[in-house]
Amino acid sequence: MPGGIHYRPHGGDHGRWIKLGRAYNRKPSEPQDDIPTDPNFPEIVLRGASRLNPGLQQYYGRLPRQITHHGGCYTMTEGNWPLIGPMKTKNAFVAGALSGFGTMAACATGALCAGWVLGTRLPEFAERLSLSRYDDESFLRRLQESASTGVL
Ligand SMILES: Cc1cc2nc3c(=O)[nH]c(=O)nc-3n(C[C@H](O)[C@H](O)[C@H](O)COP(=O)(O)OP(=O)(O)OC[C@H]3O[C@@H](n4cnc5c(N)ncnc54)[C@H](O)[C@@H]3O)c2cc1C
Repeated sequence: MPGGIHYRPHGGDHGRWIKLGRAYNRKPSEPQDDIPTDPNFPEIVLRGASRLNPGLQQYYGRLPRQITHHGGCYTMTEGNWPLIGPMKTKNAFVAGALSGFGTMAACATGALCAGWVLGTRLPEFAERLSLSRYDDESFLRRLQESASTGVL
C-alpha cells in the first residue's frame, strides 16, 4: 500500500467518527479555480484504508452521501522544495510552495522569511530555498534527480 492514507478519529473525546483521506492524485496541474473532483474518491479512500484496517470493509458501498470534501491541492515546485525569500520585485518576498508540509514548516518558514526581510544573518541553506537556486542549473538538475516528490 502506498503511503498517504490519512486516518484519524474525528469528533472530539466522545466522537464516533473516523476521518479518512488520501492524496492519490499525482498528476501536476496549473492552479485553477474549479478543481475537478473524482466521484469515486470516497470508495477509493475507503478501500485503501481497509487494507490497513479490514474492519472498514463493512462500509463498502454503504457510505452516506455528502460526507466528503476536497482538501485542496498541494502547492509545490517541480523539485518539491519550498520557495522562501526575496522575489524579483524589490521589497517583495515569498514564503510559498509549501506542498504537504506547510503546517509543520510554518514557524521555520516564517522565521527564515523574516530574516530575509530584516536582512539578518541567514543559515547556509537559505539561498537554496530561495528563488536564487534557479540560477544554478547544475544544482537544479541534481535536485530534480534526487528529490522525493512524495507527499504526506
Ligand atoms: C489536502 C492537504 C493536506 C495537507 N496536510 C498537511 C499536513 O498534514 N501537515 C502539514 O504540515 N501540511 C499539510 N498541508 C499543507 C499546508 O496546508 C499548506 O502548506 C499551508 O496551508 C500553506 O500555507 P500558506 O499560508 O502558504 O498558504 P494557504 O494556506 O494556501 O493560504 C493562502 C491564502 O491566500 C489567499 N489568496 C490566494 N490568492 C489571493 C489573492 N490573489 N488575493 C488575496 N488572497 C489570496 C487564499 O485564499 C488563502 O487563504 C496540506 C495541504 C493540503 C492541500
